[in-house]
Amino acid sequence: MIYDVAIIGAGVVGGLTARQLSRYKLSVCLIEAGCDVALGATKANSAIVHGGYDPVPGTLKAELNVKGTAMMEKLCEELEVHYKNNGSMVVAFDEEQLEHVKKLYQRGIANGVPGLSVISGDRAREIEPALSKNIAGALLCESSGIVCPYDLTIAAVGNAMDNGADLALGFKVVDIKDNGENYEICSDDGAKIQARYVVNSAGLYSDEVARMLGDEYHITAKKGEYMLLDKSEGGLVKKTIFQTPTKAGKGILVSPTVDGNLLVGPTSEKTDKGDKATTPGGLDTIKEKASMSADNINYRAVITSFTGLRASCDESDDFILEISKHSKRAINAVGIDSPGLSSSPAIAEYIAQLLSDAGLKLEENADFCGRRVNCKHFRTLSEAEKNEMIKKEPSYGRVICRCETVTEGEILEAIRQNPKATTIDGVKRRTRAGMGRCQGGFCMPFVTDIIAKELKIARCQVTKTGGKSRLLFGKTK
Ligand SMILES: Cc1cc2nc3c(=O)[nH]c(=O)nc-3n(C[C@H](O)[C@H](O)[C@H](O)COP(=O)(O)OP(=O)(O)OC[C@H]3O[C@@H](n4cnc5c(N)ncnc54)[C@H](O)[C@@H]3O)c2cc1C
Repeated sequence: MIYDVAIIGAGVVGGLTARQLSRYKLSVCLIEAGCDVALGATKANSAIVHGGYDPVPGTLKAELNVKGTAMMEKLCEELEVHYKNNGSMVVAFDEEQLEHVKKLYQRGIANGVPGLSVISGDRAREIEPALSKNIAGALLCESSGIVCPYDLTIAAVGNAMDNGADLALGFKVVDIKDNGENYEICSDDGAKIQARYVVNSAGLYSDEVARMLGDEYHITAKKGEYMLLDKSEGGLVKKTIFQTPTKAGKGILVSPTVDGNLLVGPTSEKTDKGDKATTPGGLDTIKEKASMSADNINYRAVITSFTGLRASCDESDDFILEISKHSKRAINAVGIDSPGLSSSPAIAEYIAQLLSDAGLKLEENADFCGRRVNCKHFRTLSEAEKNEMIKKEPSYGRVICRCETVTEGEILEAIRQNPKATTIDGVKRRTRAGMGRCQGGFCMPFVTDIIAKELKIARCQVTKTGGKSRLLFGKTK
């Protein structure tokens, strides 16, 4: 089969682009090197839906951030993804920073960001009592929010698949041949996919995929380390608290997550594309800086730490979204660093327009259904709904993850619903089994058993996150 469009990279950009294209009468294949969707920058970031006061007016970042953020709430409602319009503050500790905060306000006004005001330190502490007494003032942004980036991507890909798109996992693109009409996209293990048009949304590796199309960009990885605190600490602040940005980035934030945890980070360091390690130095920096914003951050309640890698483009600070210079039926999405998550719904529309400019016919698909019914999270149901669910399907009565109250029924649904979870981390991201205080110490063996049984494979074939990440290697006796 020759697809109309092949999208390379199933992060939030590729996932939402697949969903956007499934609105039209097109055959679409989403190609991903990993064993699941949302394994790149989309898996590990601050999860903030930025207001849009940070990007320089006139840039694509400014335009698509403000547009994407305005689209996010409705999109999340359609995809049954948890989104919260919690608002944010950029805090300033001295006069110089206050001047910068006022510049951000002006920038936000120029970008068309709603709900902005500059407030005093006292007003900031009235809104957020945990804030430090050293805060002299802040930019308040009412229009920003928080979302779960991998939930959004999983739901977007699932919805695209419900509308006819295909997903090819474990397909690492190593070569693209163009015969003038079609592309032949080749994987490292010899598999081939053909398509008339190609979208390169390969994140950190979008420069390598662009090179296969004859285009030259250079991506540098910028590492951001984080610490995630237990839900007991999630109420410390309601809003996302940023510090005044510097050249190094937006600085260390303190934020609730949509699931009720507290997130602190990220750092910003250039590194290798393969370096996902957290470091004692990075975590110490986070502690030192986050404690400047808010008092009483309880670091004894840290349940995990992680690293995300920003795909920073050497050629431009702006998003690069353009038709390939050498291969006119291909679109490059390069340098999609922050605010890429916030902008992603608007980026998907922009890419569809670029495909149309490149000659692809976009004819509406009357059967498109943008709503997705996701697996219900048992813990969020009322007692009556829980009883009803257990009556219909007894596996909802068996709690597998005690920290997050995740039932066997939800895990089975995660393995059965597109895009299907096939690994322990895949189940974790869809259900939260293993995301609580014990980080899977209790439930991982049970989740392993359920995956093995459902996929009809041996327990020792179950992996944490694909490839060689097996947990069990055989029986002792
Ligand atoms: C530390 C950090 C903090 C951030 N905070 C925010 C924030 O708060 N708000 C915000 O708006 N944005 C934020 N961002 C930016 C946001 O996370 C990214 O812009 C967004 O996730 C990029 O999505 P993507 O789909 O372009 O890339 P990715 O999610 O990286 O997806 C690219 C995919 O391509 C696949 N791939 C790569 N090469 C190949 C190949 N050869 N063949 C097949 N597949 C391939 C990868 O496996 C990957 O799954 C942050 C980023 C980081 C790292």
